[in-house]
Amino acid sequence: MFPADTRFLVVDDFKTMRSIVKKTLQNMGYTNLEEAEDGAKAYQAMNQAFTQGKPFGCIVCDWNMPNLSGLELLRKVRSDANFKTLPFVLVTAENEQKQVIEAAKAGVSNYIVKPFTPNDFQAKMKLVYSKHFPAKVA
Ligand SMILES: [Mg+2]
Repeated sequence: MFPADTRFLVVDDFKTMRSIVKKTLQNMGYTNLEEAEDGAKAYQAMNQAFTQGKPFGCIVCDWNMPNLSGLELLRKVRSDANFKTLPFVLVTAENEQKQVIEAAKAGVSNYIVKPFTPNDFQAKMKLVYSKHFPAKVA
């Protein structure tokens, strides 16, 4: 699982959803949490954090957002040398399941379907961590 000091960026245009995701992460013991309300602001925050030498260790991002969607942000992230291999989790609504194929092609680490239970969330995060850092899990 992600180390306790991992810095998470929670991205969603819906404040309540950001709070739910943050709360879920807090209950898992994570305290280093930031939020952004769309993909554009998230990308800005990511670059700023990277420049400051305290980069995010995982992005948890909504799909549907104004300005820059989750998929658009994912594509930007994967084509950026600084964030190419960064764990990136998309949070989707059930009716967006077919778009998940698109996300897979774009290099998403995994996705979480809304509504999710804390257990679902935790299981997905565990999968994401072992996918990105297999040596640390084995
Ligand atoms: Mg949304």
